Amino acid sequence: MTEPTTSPRTAPVVVRTREELAELRPSAGRTALVPTMGALHSGHRGLIAAARGRADSVVVSIFVNPLQFGPNEDYDRYPRTLDSDLAVCAEEGVDVVFAPDVETMYPGPQTVTVHPGEMGAVLEGEFRPGFCEGVLTVVSKLFNLIRPDIAFFGQKDAQQLAVIRRMTRDLCMPITIVGVPTVRDADGLATSSRNVYLGPQERRSALALSRALLAGADASVTGPVGILSAARAVLKEAVTATPPVVVDYLALVDPETFTDVSADHRGEAVLVVAAWVGETRLIDNVPLTL
Ligand code: AMP
Repeated sequence: MTEPTTSPRTAPVVVRTREELAELRPSAGRTALVPTMGALHSGHRGLIAAARGRADSVVVSIFVNPLQFGPNEDYDRYPRTLDSDLAVCAEEGVDVVFAPDVETMYPGPQTVTVHPGEMGAVLEGEFRPGFCEGVLTVVSKLFNLIRPDIAFFGQKDAQQLAVIRRMTRDLCMPITIVGVPTVRDADGLATSSRNVYLGPQERRSALALSRALLAGADASVTGPVGILSAARAVLKEAVTATPPVVVDYLALVDPETFTDVSADHRGEAVLVVAAWVGETRLIDNVPLTL
């Protein structure tokens, strides 16, 4: 009997500089971009699979963007795992990996940046000042360097996805933005590069986030007030867990503007949560139809 074989895919072309990237162009057909900060996991694989389904060639960028980290955040300790990331990209059939260093992306001071407006000042913007601006600026640079036809972002970072959609609309960028549903581990925790920071006890506490969202979703027929109180009840218990869950925010917001929905809101909404477990900050959300 012969063993079944899986045909190994060709390894992606790895590009480190702008010059190498320019040499690759023009590629035939439709090009998709999947921007990432590396430490690739099943969530990133979901984006790549979606991209492969809708484009002729897939570029994954891997760049830990200093501009989107605050001074006391985890930029220095953020996981950097290029070798295993390249193996994931090969398995997923990625054509090109763009993995620039900081000097390539920021050769001088970044004087001109992309300002997200009001929707970048709430929630993530309030707790991480400069985050949305840092994201929009690096995504604009990646769009200009790679010139994709279509770009894929996770709904896991719902506010980020919304400000990127808004940027492409307001700045007339000729790029289709596609949101991809959140990938979760079997226990409900949304996969994230930051999950490697969590010890076993912390991970148990962290499950309160997805449990709270689920409780909110289960209460969706009761409207905004019922949804928020169901989710809040779960988080309230988690505040006394060991280690405790320290909540930055829990909100039910409009999916486009990220402002709070009214108590009588009907239609689309997103229940968003951000919280600390130990030294790790986690975010999660669930889209709801009320
Ligand atoms: P990151 O490397 O964390 O900056 O994420 C790169 C892209 O992957 C972003 O568009 C994220 O929203 C997306 N992403 C991260 N985690 C997940 C997940 N669990 N499910 C779906 N998309 C994700």
